[in-house]
Amino acid sequence: MAVVKERLMDALREHFGFDSFKGNQEKIINSILSGKDTFVIMPTGGGKSLCYQLPALMSPGCALIVSPLIALMKNQVDLVRGYSSKDNVAHFLNSTLSKAQIKKVRADLTAGKTKLLYVAPETLTKQENLDFFKELEISFIAVDEAHCISEWGHDFRPEYRRLKEMIDQISDKLPIIALTATATPKVQSDIVKNLGLNKANIFISSFNRPNLYYEIRPKRKKDQTIKDIVKFIHQHKGKSGIIYTLNRKTTEELADMLVANGVKAVAYHAGLDPSTRAQRQDMFLHEDTEVIVATIAFGMGIDKPDVRFVIHYNIPKSLENYYQETGRAGRDGLEGHCICYYSHKDVQKLEHLMRDKSLSEREMGAQLINETVAYAESAVCRRKVILHYFGEHFETENCGQCDNCRNPKEKIEVKNRVVIMLKAIRALEERFGSEYVINVITGKTSPQINTYRHDQLEVFGEGKEFDAHFWNSLMRQMMLEGLIEKDIEEYGLLKVTDKGTKFLKKPYSIMVALNHQFDEDAVEDEED
Ligand code: ADP
Ligand code: ZN
Repeated sequence: MAVVKERLMDALREHFGFDSFKGNQEKIINSILSGKDTFVIMPTGGGKSLCYQLPALMSPGCALIVSPLIALMKNQVDLVRGYSSKDNVAHFLNSTLSKAQIKKVRADLTAGKTKLLYVAPETLTKQENLDFFKELEISFIAVDEAHCISEWGHDFRPEYRRLKEMIDQISDKLPIIALTATATPKVQSDIVKNLGLNKANIFISSFNRPNLYYEIRPKRKKDQTIKDIVKFIHQHKGKSGIIYTLNRKTTEELADMLVANGVKAVAYHAGLDPSTRAQRQDMFLHEDTEVIVATIAFGMGIDKPDVRFVIHYNIPKSLENYYQETGRAGRDGLEGHCICYYSHKDVQKLEHLMRDKSLSEREMGAQLINETVAYAESAVCRRKVILHYFGEHFETENCGQCDNCRNPKEKIEVKNRVVIMLKAIRALEERFGSEYVINVITGKTSPQINTYRHDQLEVFGEGKEFDAHFWNSLMRQMMLEGLIEKDIEEYGLLKVTDKGTKFLKKPYSIMVALNHQFDEDAVEDEED
């Protein structure tokens, strides 16, 4: 049943001191309060915590919040307690507590004084805890950072895979609310499956960050690139920014070079001792330094609203990482300039970093890197590509806030070539991936093509006057336009969508810009 609006607003004011809900919050809270499984996909800063905190405070019993970040649990608990005069309204239970502290938490829970209990997934693997929870009145389970369940997310935690089984031991009737800031369609379906979300209400907020400007710059020789960065920083004198690099040594070198060029900069990476790290983080927060040159170790939990630029000195290992890292710019809604330097050499470096991983991890990693490469080389609106990655269709002629929209490349008519692509996918009965389809179109034989006699198909070689680079680019743009899609359940097999079928019946004009060509010999002489 929907809760009376006034009661919700009163609770919001009483517990948090806010006068209105943000985005989907109210609908989400109603969904939880009516006992439905609920799936919340909301970008960072969207206000996810309140979505489970408020219903927990309003419901009889105690809510269990599963969170992977032990370090942040205390913060969360303090925030909830901040608005309440009673300290026992929220607690956490994890491996950092002493026996005496655990006893106190348990006593408060048994006495029914606690409304929110934060737990690590490991806490739920202990049978004695499960037995204890069984005896309590639990209002619902919230699974925070739910993408940790998926190997396709950026932070896979195997313990998350066992959550459902453990939750069912407490009770099989508990509503589950899953929350994440990072869900590509693949990750989304993993979450729904693994948590066994039942007829869940799903709330997806837009991931668009209209104030961020996205730009790709070709990366050439090191001193040239650094000169380029210094010039950019001098044009943004006095503003704060983050530069991300791939390894520790480069952060130090780059920071030194910037200092030598009159920029206030410090390096930050996991190899520094904790006090130096804390000190440099503080310097950045308090504007004693303009630029922090960091590995991706920097940024988790940093809330500096006026970061004006995020520069990637190396291409990130996935578009999801890129989104999260650039997301630290312009939190206050004002200007945020996101530049990524791109070279083939850096792509090879990323591939090299995976050399010791298992075959399946390498395959997965390679696919994620391919998406980033496609983003970098694309001549399509950057925003459109990023949002498509998150399963969002962004309709725009010109977003005005990316390099490709501000300096559009000349477009060419591709109607007939789109027809060839669609016909090829159909002729192959939608049972092959992109490489195979392109081989057929460009008339390249392979043992498999010979075996299946696909060289006998009418479309075989029909597009041979264009190279694989062109067809790849066209294929990606057709996906962006929703004419074809990759089947995420089935190894990326290409399928023609309803829109594609309509197009085949009645083709219309389609203009596309060709991808940027990056010279292979744009060398970069960095040693790692
Ligand atoms: P997320 O977990 O999605 O990154 P948080 O839960 O940390 O986001 O919320 C981000 C910020 O928005 C916090 O400072 C929070 O206090 C604030 N916030 C959340 N809901 C509201 C609201 N309804 N009105 C005003 N501020 C809100
Ligand atoms: Zn654009």
